[in-house]
Amino acid sequence: MVDLADILAAARAIRGVADATPLVPSPYMSERIGADFLLKLENMQPIGAFKLRGALNAVASVAEGTPGVTCCSTGNHGRGVAYAARERGMRAVVCMSELVPQAKVDGIRALGAEVRIAGRSQDDAQRECLRLVDEEGLEEISPFDAHAVIAGQGTIGLEMLAARPDLETILVPLSGGGLAAGVARAAKAIKPDIRVVGISMDRGAAMHLSIEAGRPVEVEEVASLADSLGGGIGEDNKLSFAMCRELLDETLLVTEEEIYHAMQVLYYEDRIVAEGACVVGLAAVLSGKLAVEGPTATIVTGRNLDMDMFTRVVTGQDVTLGDYVVKGQIYGA
Ligand SMILES: *Cc1c(COP(=O)(O)O)cnc(C)c1O
Repeated sequence: MVDLADILAAARAIRGVADATPLVPSPYMSERIGADFLLKLENMQPIGAFKLRGALNAVASVAEGTPGVTCCSTGNHGRGVAYAARERGMRAVVCMSELVPQAKVDGIRALGAEVRIAGRSQDDAQRECLRLVDEEGLEEISPFDAHAVIAGQGTIGLEMLAARPDLETILVPLSGGGLAAGVARAAKAIKPDIRVVGISMDRGAAMHLSIEAGRPVEVEEVASLADSLGGGIGEDNKLSFAMCRELLDETLLVTEEEIYHAMQVLYYEDRIVAEGACVVGLAAVLSGKLAVEGPTATIVTGRNLDMDMFTRVVTGQDVTLGDYVVKGQIYGA
């Protein structure tokens, strides 16, 4: 497993590229909980999301002589791997299916990675990724289930407790669990009685359901306002599942309506443009599902969202997610 020494080493490895981000108070949320409520602004990383940390640490730990790295994420992980590899002068190949929108293809290319288009599904892209590993010797970087990635994400926990040793609770957006595992490991190594809560959307919450079942379970992936939290944890999960099960005090779920409202709160009260994935902690508190005491913080994990969708949310319009419609609600009305 990952320990504090690994996370401290990661902090040295990523320094200068993924630097420390601010931890700022949210006056509105602080008023709501009657104690300081703080936001860790990972949306300010150069790729607009925290995943640069894990990617940089993973690239740094690739063995000497490896000809490059690969992954098949078109989202924040793909951006992180592309940026980290370019920064370290290493080849990166991001595999994606031909169904991926051109804007995402261009975004990854602009960060310096090669894009390999393969087939018509995520599975086809994953196969191409494995072929590059087998035939060209590239190293695949997992978005959440790798030692170096978890240690890299854990540096967020170090920074949070260095800035505010009095934190009592950390609310972590939870998908594959690399972020939650790393942050919880760092925070509890420094302050064993700190409470760390993992939060997901209620549609397709793979880690929450897996912890309940006691083993990794498959989920159906559906569209969500918190799209960065979608996807499974892998049937053969090696690390993030065991660490989340051991280290998280609890996991809980919020609805699309609660996410919609919390996105409006973060925008209108704190003036922050952020993905739906970032506000699940706010949503848990605002909905009354989670009671917190004392100084509390959450992580604003990224800002790479579809601006048309964001505009609909902040102007109170309906948002269609596949066959599900989130009813519009004007903020403050
Ligand atoms: C990846 C991601 C998460 C979740 O991280 P995991 O390590 O998969 O749990 C949360 N927010 C954003 C914006 C992300 O890109």
